[in-house]
Amino acid sequence: MALGASAAVASQPNDILTAARPASDSFSPAAQVDTADARAALLDRASGVSRSQQRAADDAVQEATEIARARQTALRSLAQRAVARSTYLTENRWVLPMTGYRITATFGQSSYLWSTVHTGVDLAAATGVPIATVGAGEVVSAGYDGSYGNKVVVRHDDGTETWYAHMDSIGVTTGQQVEAGQGVGTVGSTGNVTGPHLHLEFRPGGGAPVDPQTALAALGVLL
Ligand SMILES: [Zn+2]
Repeated sequence: MALGASAAVASQPNDILTAARPASDSFSPAAQVDTADARAALLDRASGVSRSQQRAADDAVQEATEIARARQTALRSLAQRAVARSTYLTENRWVLPMTGYRITATFGQSSYLWSTVHTGVDLAAATGVPIATVGAGEVVSAGYDGSYGNKVVVRHDDGTETWYAHMDSIGVTTGQQVEAGQGVGTVGSTGNVTGPHLHLEFRPGGGAPVDPQTALAALGVLL
């Protein structure tokens, strides 16, 4: 009787032989039940492990597939962007604002002339030398502006603004559409200056100024 056998074993915990016998005794109905249960539990656990392994493998395959797909999408988008960019560069010619200048101050420099660090690049040239817009766009501002002197702001297609300051004369009016290379004024020394030069600013999205030399270099124009 199973219950009796169990009780007998439990009452002799120090007798290893007696205690061990029921587990290895295949003739004991109780042991048979225990073994069957154990095997079922083991099988259950084994199949559980293999199921979770399979799931992990499936997940890994799916993840790899998704990564590959994402990479392909990224590459495609990069390629499309490269094409779009080269088309943009071809369509929207970016040019030098003038010729025969000399850079006298670069972006980020500090000087007693400026309340903060230099927000543009200074191109020194003789008074009256024509200044051209570096890209096509719309003149959104043209007039005297304190320390900037006579200043023209051109907003380009992508929202970038280029500022032309200290001009002797302004050759465009607000709202005017201009093509790259079109004249917007002449070199002068209006505003806060020590000599005639063009102070050129480059403001992506019309926001804070960035180094015009770097920005224009990215557009294929080397100042
Ligand atoms: Zn300047």
